[in-house]
Amino acid sequence: MTEHNGRPWAVGEPDPAPEEKGSAGRAEAGSGDGPDGVGPARVAVISLHTSPLDQPGIGDSGGMNVYVLSVAERLAKQGIAVDIYTRCHGENAPQVEQLGTGTRLMHVQAGPCAPVPKERLPGILPRFLDGVLELATADEGHRHSPYDVVHSHYWLSGWVGARAKEIWGVPHVASFHTLGKVKNSALPEGDDPEPPERLAGERRVIVGADRILAPTPSEASLLIDLYGADPGRIRIVPPGVDRSVFHPRRKEEAKARLHTANTRLLLFVGRLQPFKGPDVAIRAVAEAAARAPDVMRDVVLAVVGGSTGRDADHDEVTRLMELASALGMADRVVFYPPQPHGRLAEFYSAADAVLVPSRSESFGLVALEAQSCGAPVIGAAAGGLRYVIRDGESGFLVDGHDPAQYSDRIIRLLSDPDLAARLSAGAIRHAAIFSWDATAADIRSVYREVLHRPEP
Ligand code: UDP
Repeated sequence: MTEHNGRPWAVGEPDPAPEEKGSAGRAEAGSGDGPDGVGPARVAVISLHTSPLDQPGIGDSGGMNVYVLSVAERLAKQGIAVDIYTRCHGENAPQVEQLGTGTRLMHVQAGPCAPVPKERLPGILPRFLDGVLELATADEGHRHSPYDVVHSHYWLSGWVGARAKEIWGVPHVASFHTLGKVKNSALPEGDDPEPPERLAGERRVIVGADRILAPTPSEASLLIDLYGADPGRIRIVPPGVDRSVFHPRRKEEAKARLHTANTRLLLFVGRLQPFKGPDVAIRAVAEAAARAPDVMRDVVLAVVGGSTGRDADHDEVTRLMELASALGMADRVVFYPPQPHGRLAEFYSAADAVLVPSRSESFGLVALEAQSCGAPVIGAAAGGLRYVIRDGESGFLVDGHDPAQYSDRIIRLLSDPDLAARLSAGAIRHAAIFSWDATAADIRSVYREVLHRPEP
């Protein structure tokens, strides 16, 4: 592992011999220099299927939304103008919305200005691309190309980014956030696999992008092994956390504000889908309660989030409530609707531990935010969580999804105040190595690299 900005793995190492083909070599066609004379001045961010202003923790909205907005705000602070293109939803949304100084949200009409099932989105990609091009050229005063770099998020946006790269003659940086082949390899029982169209689409984006950002070395390896990505084009950029929001509050006060005083709180936060394993969390708490009734006497599990599916017949919240009832846990499992992002700091601070038993996780922002608030995390040793959680120092990593294994760790932690205090301190320490400022700085380095403008 390499240290970079205090974070424990290599980040944005420049390609030693960049044999660039494609548009990176034509980057001088961009609109100009950034404030330091070497970075990009203007970046188009493509976030087609979900807007950074959507409520995370429900539907298709989650870590990617938080990521896109957090990074855009930090890049803008560094003087880079960021336009985020997303599909319009909401009839009255303005076409161009100023989010903050230097950051705009561009609502593109492609299909109805309303939610569209993800499987229908590939069909409206060309219309979305046209909309991006129209909106981009509506801005006067850009001599050659409206942007210096296009940065896409998720494979659908990658399709748009790949075409914008050719049309504008600018480099394309692609982030995936999740990969279809990785999801398929960890599919929970009964879940539909990601379609071949997505897998092929991802592969095309990976082949054509100038740089691909991976949050961890293990995702970098998966890009190479599963998709044949060129290792020289991958840059590892870990996501961050906003410590001005996610810092520890006094536990008892946080509990009181959540009306959970006199309980000990276990917490699950995220989109309620089988992939995230909320069922494992509920089963684990039930099993711990059966095995150690004294330790678990005052323990409540809070489940925060909403369903992913739009099908009322398969509502995950109802399914989980039924599961809790069937396990005799109805009065111990409390369901909260998705919470405004910042308010989660209250939940994390109140929690004695946060459970993240995901089947696969590209990174795991919830685990990071929780630790930043001093909550130890009991998570699956899957994907990014192996980097986000330090086993035995900031929480526990559990192999697999057997509720019994999670209940072991729950009982250990709740019956040993010294261990709990040690893990809480370790969690704060570990989370402190991540920040959105560092993420944005790394991304800016990648932009400079593809523009062939070395660091000053
Ligand atoms: N989140 C939120 N409110 C909620 C539930 C989740 O703001 O009620 C946010 C959470 O703070 C985190 C993101 O949604 O930043 C989820 O990211 P994660 O990487 O854990 O999972 P993903 O959604 O990317 O699979």
